[in-house]
Amino acid sequence: KRTIIIIGSGQGGYQMAASLRDEGFDGRLLLIGDEPGFPYQRPPLSKAYLTGKTVEEALRLRPPAYYADKKIELIEGRRATAIDRAARRVVLNDGQSLVYDELVLATGARNRTLHVPGHDLDGIFYLRTLADAQSLKGSMAGISRAVVIGAGFIGLEFAAVARAAGIDVTVVEATTRPLGRALSPITSQYFVDAHEAWGTRFVLGTGISHFDGVGGQVTHVVTQDGQQLAADLVLVGIGVLPNQELAAEAGLACENGIVVNQFLRTEDPHVSAIGDCCLYPSFFAAGPTRLESVQNAVDQARNVAARLMGRPTPYAGIPWFWSDQGDLKLQIVGLTGGHDSAVVRGDPAGRKFSVFCFGNGRLLGIESINQAGDHMAGRKLLAGHHDLTPDKAVDLEFDLRLYAK
Ligand code: FAD
Repeated sequence: KRTIIIIGSGQGGYQMAASLRDEGFDGRLLLIGDEPGFPYQRPPLSKAYLTGKTVEEALRLRPPAYYADKKIELIEGRRATAIDRAARRVVLNDGQSLVYDELVLATGARNRTLHVPGHDLDGIFYLRTLADAQSLKGSMAGISRAVVIGAGFIGLEFAAVARAAGIDVTVVEATTRPLGRALSPITSQYFVDAHEAWGTRFVLGTGISHFDGVGGQVTHVVTQDGQQLAADLVLVGIGVLPNQELAAEAGLACENGIVVNQFLRTEDPHVSAIGDCCLYPSFFAAGPTRLESVQNAVDQARNVAARLMGRPTPYAGIPWFWSDQGDLKLQIVGLTGGHDSAVVRGDPAGRKFSVFCFGNGRLLGIESINQAGDHMAGRKLLAGHHDLTPDKAVDLEFDLRLYAK
């Protein structure tokens, strides 16, 4: 019987193990993760977990008994330090060495860090793991001023939670457009307006010079244009880097992610990569793509599980993503990055609308705010060969759901 080793026990690694068993894999299955404990979901870490609406046990992807039932050997709190591809062997940081027939890399990504003077003061936080979220949550109680560095999804989700808790929030962003990498100008401006209405202040178009502190505790964030922003707590959310060093050291091609083909296989036929760490050829983008989303990790895991069980198909998952900020539930389907026109369907003032993004007249994606129906229709539209025009998209008399069927 074959042995399959999965490195990384996050969203993608867990799903890989679960899908292999669902597909009937009856060989040895090892899931190696360097974080302590059972696999858990990250999205609530910047949302319900911080507000106290959800507890740690509820973050778990499966209860502990699941792994024993499914004979998934979870090796937690240990790190894979080397891959010997010739011998098909993985070495762990405790010296243990494990032999595989197939290896799946699901190593995810880690936070990009800000190395300016004062970066090691207390009160400066990052958010990726449950451990990060625990310390951040613990430090939010009783503070009055927070500065968020980076207006991406994690920064703005935290800003919404902190404002709702009565904390004074300033967001500093190096570019001039919050969420600019991910969203159309219409939607990103809508989010800026919403955050400002909740009382958050934006400082745009400047980087960070340094942090000031007293007694080892951060007190101010100083921007490159000379503004001194008082802070009891700082959250840095300036993006992530793929965890690809293990693959690179094993001689596998890496760029912005571990390079895989349309079957999510590296140049080594026995090594695959999925999730945040992999750079793959997407049907929805012009070039190789690396996505950071639950959908991407889950769908890629399912695709590789099916291939390892003898049913290969090119990966064609439709990218979708969500973010919750205050009363706004954003859902995105497709990749809207290269769009050249955008139209609005629905009622922005009533906080229910969607932005349909087109490139060369073709629908690339939809950004929906409190409009789950448009989002679901969008998933079907992008899966099929529909020729939705901007005129139809904005026409509320036009039945999108029926058309998408
Ligand atoms: P991960 O879940 O990061 O798992 C990788 C695991 O591998 C980690 O535990 C890592 O420590 C471990 N690892 C790395 N190297 C090694 C090694 N050498 N040996 C052993 N273990 C190793 N996505 C959405 O779609 N919607 C959201 O609303 C959303 N919100 C988010 C909020 C937060 C705060 C964060 C951090 C992420 C959010 N995401 C969201 C993104 C989503 O969680 C990730 O895209 C997803 O977890 C990726 O899964 P993955 O398996 O590729 O990586």
